[in-house]
Amino acid sequence: MILNNLHIWDGVAADLHGDFDAMEIKDGRIQRLLRSDAVGDAAGRDMGGLFVIPGLIDAHVHMCLDPEIKDPFEQGQYSVTEQLAKIEDRAVRMLAAGITTARDLGGGNWLELVVRDKINAGDLLATRLLCAGQPITSVQGHCHFWGGEAADLAEALVVLERQLEHQVDLIKVMATGGNLTPGSTPANAQFDRATLARIVEVATSNKRLVAAHCHGTTGIANAASAGVSTIEHCSWVGANGWGQDYDPVAVADMVANQVRVSPTINAGWKRYIGSPAFEARMMANLEKIQQAGVQLIASTDAGIPGVYHHHLPLAIPVMAHFAGLTPVRALRAATSDCAAAIGLGAEVGRIQPGYCADMVFYASNPLLDLDVLASPAAVMARGRFSA
Ligand SMILES: [Zn+2]
Repeated sequence: MILNNLHIWDGVAADLHGDFDAMEIKDGRIQRLLRSDAVGDAAGRDMGGLFVIPGLIDAHVHMCLDPEIKDPFEQGQYSVTEQLAKIEDRAVRMLAAGITTARDLGGGNWLELVVRDKINAGDLLATRLLCAGQPITSVQGHCHFWGGEAADLAEALVVLERQLEHQVDLIKVMATGGNLTPGSTPANAQFDRATLARIVEVATSNKRLVAAHCHGTTGIANAASAGVSTIEHCSWVGANGWGQDYDPVAVADMVANQVRVSPTINAGWKRYIGSPAFEARMMANLEKIQQAGVQLIASTDAGIPGVYHHHLPLAIPVMAHFAGLTPVRALRAATSDCAAAIGLGAEVGRIQPGYCADMVFYASNPLLDLDVLASPAAVMARGRFSA
């Protein structure tokens, strides 16, 4: 299939492609970039001048969670068949919104992996999923109801091994407490450095990356020094509250270990714009880590109350606001940079020969206005147009 008459952004460059406006897609991959005037009229499909970018990537979702349910203990009230149908429905809606890849950072019963496999087999046209399964957490710790409780290193490795048996794509560890879990304290670290370092070592030897949930500063510092691949949230919670306990030593470890920050800024953060204390604190922290050399990637934590799975396109302009990103940098954080952070940097996130044909098309240029992302004109996953 040849697509003609496009404006192409490759996922990396500072601007649209100057040389090519067409591409050939074969076996689900981008075969080559071309010029429309070099393609015979009959051979190509006229895309009418649409703007095309690599499909968007959300680095942090929970496919099993219904964002309309506030109490996590009520999430399991559906039958397995019903839950699978809901996960499939979410993945289909995400794709229609332009999200071609998402990383699932936790659930209790591996149902999202069933849907992942169905999508990978080509039996469901939906968002490509990478799945972590049960997060490793402390006893009664954050999201312990998902079954990944571990009292010590030995038990943590048992949980890790169980995820490998279930064919997870990566390992998730709760390095601090969290908000979703009654009795859990976001500021507190759940594991020490040595334990996290060993978890990373074992995961790495099994070719798995580690994502670490971190609100409190001690947990952030532990995870950064252990060399996890991504720090989720990175809320800098200390004795004085959220965003108040920035630690430059932890940030230096992030840079040294190439740890990316996934700040889980969802579309609902719009409500904080203009709220002077929170907004200024967040902006200052995000500016400091970027100036130190830490890369940000796009993520929403979709599935938690009020955060919808298909809303990443609405979250990207909000992330750009809080992180002080130009549109092109925000788009890299949601395409090529995000792909590299989650281990798919040679597969998705770019429009280049050899990459998967995961793309989203818009009527106007998202490099000039991120609000364009809310209204895709068409979406392609693995070379197939989504309905
Ligand atoms: Zn989460």
